[in-house]
Amino acid sequence: MLPLVYHPVYSELVLPAKHRYPITKYQRLFLHLTQEKQIETWADVAFFQPEAVTPDALKTLHQANYIDSLINNTLPAAKMRRIGFPWSPQLIERTLTSAGGTRMTVDLACQYGISLHLSGGYHHAHYDFGSGFCLVNDLAFAARHALTLPGIDKVMIIDCDVHQGDGTATLLADDNNILTFSVHCDKNFPARKPDSDIDLALPRETGTDEYLSAFKAVLTLALAQHRPDLVIYDAGVDIHQHDALGYFNVTTEGIFQRDHFVISQCHDNNIPLAAVVGGGYRDDHQQLVNIHAQLFWAALAVHQPDKQITAPAGTVDFQDA
Ligand SMILES: [Zn+2]
Repeated sequence: MLPLVYHPVYSELVLPAKHRYPITKYQRLFLHLTQEKQIETWADVAFFQPEAVTPDALKTLHQANYIDSLINNTLPAAKMRRIGFPWSPQLIERTLTSAGGTRMTVDLACQYGISLHLSGGYHHAHYDFGSGFCLVNDLAFAARHALTLPGIDKVMIIDCDVHQGDGTATLLADDNNILTFSVHCDKNFPARKPDSDIDLALPRETGTDEYLSAFKAVLTLALAQHRPDLVIYDAGVDIHQHDALGYFNVTTEGIFQRDHFVISQCHDNNIPLAAVVGGGYRDDHQQLVNIHAQLFWAALAVHQPDKQITAPAGTVDFQDA
């Protein structure tokens, strides 16, 4: 069974007109899977709805004063600007629920071998400040949580969002049992890129073949050397050739191949995999849905081979918008 984690609150945030954040994509992705593709009628999947994490739980990862200021709307204006969202109760609600969702995805991955979250990947959140649309770092939070579970002594975070995972790298710099691996564009946000345990920085205009060959080589080595008990995977699609904030030239099929490789490597090595959708930016939010959906088709291709999902045919639509 493939457990999927979703909460309607992910898209329940009113933003100013022309705001860059594609807030509706979570609901659109959910509707694409459940209504357009009717995934529950032909695949063995189940949806799970997470609860918000408590502020106290977040204070084990972030500075207590930062969490209190965030929740009480007492952050200085400059710190809110760095986050990039206007403050609202809905913003806090979706943030805490999404962190709960990534934690739940980890729990379900340990139980079922794999789980996918229709949100998550807020890797620019640091110890005492947020940035780049990230308020709290769900990846680091869920990785620390994973280490409290039976049989999980080493976690690897594989961050394939086009932007470097700077918040995750600094928050977990002293966590020897959590390995951070970021593959990203060398000249893109964030300007300052603190060291992850493994950084694979690729130049602008990197194409599908170069991306996949570099990533596959490093990931294969990293898994063989570190042998994690759990992988947390940020399947950001802002590496796409038509992304508004990325500078790579990776196709939709290339994203399917990337996701398929990560999922099959974990499957073949018996490593539970918790994946989040991560970044992806377009003015037309609906155009993102098909690209994010590759993660879900790739998971079914590996874990439910009787569905005969193969790239680039079958139920997968590879038309690049
Ligand atoms: Zn990104």
